[in-house]
Amino acid sequence: RLVLAIESSCDETAVAIIDAEGNLLANQVSTQIDFHARFGGVVPEIASRKHVEVIVGVVDAALEEATSALGLGGGALAPGELAAVGVTQGPGLVGALVVGVAFAKGLAWAAGVPLIAVNHLEGHLYANLLTTPDLKPPFIFTLVSGGHTMLVHVKAWGAYEVLGETLDDAVGEAFDKVAKALGLGYPGGPIISRLAETGNPHAIEFPRALNRKGDYRFSLSGLKTAVVTYIEQETAAGRAIHLPDLAASFEAAVFDVQYKKARNALRETGAREYCIGGGVAANPHLRAMMIKKLGRQGIRVTVPPQNACTDNAAMIAEVARRKLAEGDFACFDIDADPNMTL
Ligand code: ATP
Ligand code: MG
Ligand code: FE
Repeated sequence: RLVLAIESSCDETAVAIIDAEGNLLANQVSTQIDFHARFGGVVPEIASRKHVEVIVGVVDAALEEATSALGLGGGALAPGELAAVGVTQGPGLVGALVVGVAFAKGLAWAAGVPLIAVNHLEGHLYANLLTTPDLKPPFIFTLVSGGHTMLVHVKAWGAYEVLGETLDDAVGEAFDKVAKALGLGYPGGPIISRLAETGNPHAIEFPRALNRKGDYRFSLSGLKTAVVTYIEQETAAGRAIHLPDLAASFEAAVFDVQYKKARNALRETGAREYCIGGGVAANPHLRAMMIKKLGRQGIRVTVPPQNACTDNAAMIAEVARRKLAEGDFACFDIDADPNMTL
């Protein structure tokens, strides 16, 4: 009962294979970051073309990886031995999604197995099940990625109450924009988080927006402007910018708000479990802070594997595996849906 899953919503072409018990047998990610970095962000047209170029090779590599993981001699695992093919249907860049959806349909049709459509945001949530298979609703989930910032009350699997979202930039987007303003490169998250390791989070007082109890909305554009203004003022005054202090203070401003809203949501709903997902969940300071501060209050905190936070197909495979068990299949006439939500 093997499921092969494909993820192509943005700038990663990823394929994973999982068995019925949730053991990952293959987890291939081909990233296009180098092709987009010189533009300072993802160029949709380039993303679609790169997906087309590499997808066959990534699927082959995943089939080979699974073959050796299973210790099979002889020829590689054939698509006919799969039980289903899962694919990210949305949200994301439409031209990028179309490549994965079309390929998945072809593969499933040829193999004579069902097609399973997966919501990318649900994938970021289910990444938590790769470390904590017994995670059970009700719980509070923070999604912090390149395109989304959401605080969600997961009442049951599939029953989501979105408590609040960002009014402007996503958290990952804010990391990328701050790194860009500093001329540090793309993507900004890993760069800022490395710099922050040796910085003082109290060095610079940046604003915490919408920081009132009961308000679960987020806003990051004011913080981004405050960082840019700070850089301009220091430069104009002829003072050198201490990058680690700036990075650590920026992170503190973002993560303080994330922590307080998550804590308030836990108190208000009475949920005793918390988890986090999306590219920013790879940030070691955010992970450690939630584990420590919420843990102290008796909340069980789950984080995904560090390499399953940014886009990957392992999380898509985990959703597809559960849908296979429930017989939740897609029709072969589905389209990519760039605007899917939770
Ligand atoms: P979405 O999932 O909303 O559709 P996406 O798939 O483009 O968006 P992800 O791959 O989930 O986004 O996350 C990418 C984002 O994560 C980027 O903005 C990147 O800067 C950020 N990121 C990655 N690593 C870190 C880190 N260590 N600290 C902070 N941010 C990080
Ligand atoms: Mg990406
Ligand atoms: Fe994502």
